[in-house]
Amino acid sequence: MSVSTGHPAPSAVSTFDVHDPATGAVVGTYPVHDRHAVDAAVATAHRAAAWWRDLGFAGRARHLDAWRGEIASGRAELAEVIHREMGKPISDAKLEIAMALEHLRWAARNAEKVLGRRSVPSSLLTFNHAATVEYRPLGVVGVIGPWNYPVFTPLGSISFALAAGNAVVFKPSEYTPGVGLWLAQAFARTAPAEPVLQVITGLGDTGNALCRSEVGKIGFTGSTATGKLVMAACAENLTPVLMECGGKDALIVDADADLAAAADAAVWGGLSNAGQTCLAVERVYVHADVYDEFLTKLVAAAAEIEAGGEGSRIGPITMPKQLSIIRRHIEDAVARGARAVLGGPDTIDRQFVQPTILVDVPEDAAAVTEETFGPTLTVTRVRDMDEAVELVNRGAYGLGGTVFARRHGREIADRIRAGGTSINAFVAHATIPALPLGGVGASGFGRVHGPDGLREFTYAKATTRQRFPSPLPLTSFRRDHRADAIADLLVAILHGRKHQ
Ligand code: NDP
Repeated sequence: MSVSTGHPAPSAVSTFDVHDPATGAVVGTYPVHDRHAVDAAVATAHRAAAWWRDLGFAGRARHLDAWRGEIASGRAELAEVIHREMGKPISDAKLEIAMALEHLRWAARNAEKVLGRRSVPSSLLTFNHAATVEYRPLGVVGVIGPWNYPVFTPLGSISFALAAGNAVVFKPSEYTPGVGLWLAQAFARTAPAEPVLQVITGLGDTGNALCRSEVGKIGFTGSTATGKLVMAACAENLTPVLMECGGKDALIVDADADLAAAADAAVWGGLSNAGQTCLAVERVYVHADVYDEFLTKLVAAAAEIEAGGEGSRIGPITMPKQLSIIRRHIEDAVARGARAVLGGPDTIDRQFVQPTILVDVPEDAAAVTEETFGPTLTVTRVRDMDEAVELVNRGAYGLGGTVFARRHGREIADRIRAGGTSINAFVAHATIPALPLGGVGASGFGRVHGPDGLREFTYAKATTRQRFPSPLPLTSFRRDHRADAIADLLVAILHGRKHQ
């Protein structure tokens, strides 16, 4: 298979295979784009960027809407490609596409309002100036994406970067290059004039080459470890980066929570996509008063979910190397006194991991502190919500989180150190297009989605126009004692002498 976005493909010297994670069968072969090919793609993108920028917000929105239509009408085919390459069930793949389309629509419709030129007030000392601010595209944005949500996650950067007026060169994960190509080909059908969205394929080295190319910014989504490599490579050219990295999110259950709803959210949040979700629930902290009742409901609900087999609700573990991490976390926890009340180390079979619920896990065990990225949950009894908050905030990550509570949900959510927290629903904040998504600490920085996600791929441009000469020439060697005295008086009036 070759790179075809409706535009000349960059040269490539070797290829790599993509395997169906459930069967190991080869499902595609793609070029490995080297440094030379990546630089060529970025150079082409710079030419396309000027055309795309000059279309203006309305012109770009028309193309983005047409692209949205292409994706929507091809969603069954795209869902097949997702399923084939990374293994999630077709219905989950369709849900992922639906969520991505919501954000694409929001970005196209709101770009002008958020980024367009607007007047801002000047100040007393600068009252003779008219002032405006606008947010200009960076030119070419490089997007590096993961495989776990190969449409929703990269489009969180790509849609917003495009709506802001940038061309994009996208390096999809080596596990899901076909998904990336499908998206770019759909875009090329709706905007064939210029290669505004190109895809380069390959392994980590291809991503590294993109970081070191002439891009205006890298939008990275992936693991924290790779994020550090990306930052180091981008440092060479002072290329700014958006870091959407890993997580170790928790779900908190207060004593007055709707326990059935909390258990349902924990099962979906922990097990869907076989736990391979950056915002997955990996830890649950439950008020002691309702711990036993909640655990019973949780185990009953999770026991109905099976990985693998016809019509199963969760698929295989996509990356073969992740299996040993999942196994290590479970075995280490059990060796340190934890109990598997569902699943456990023996339920790992080939690429499939059955839902596993661990209790009595020490707080310093890897299953609590490191990203597991499998269908596992640790469940811990807490005496009150102070203890829950303290334990949730203890980790290095700070991506998202969920709180189930009737009376104090907002209070608890406000105390969680994370980029987003959802009350009484699993990470709803990630699905609302107007809200920013991103993390703190080891989960990264910068934001996709919402107004922040649009501004992320721009630079702020401030412009002033002197409307008439100031009677007080402060920034001139013509400033005299009288001007100094008036300025001094104004400072005293405006800012006072001392604030207690
Ligand atoms: P990786 O960090 O392994 O890879 C992410 C991307 O980086 C891939 O395209 C990868 O290419 C590329 N890459 C690898 N090495 C380099 C390098 N040296 N320079 C530049 N790019 C490189 O993550 P995964 O794909 O395994 O994704 C899972 C991770 O992503 C999890 O930690 C998850 O939490 C996180 N994630 C975060 C999200 C968020 O919103 N915060 C959303 C979704 C996932 P290749 O595949 O070819 O190695």
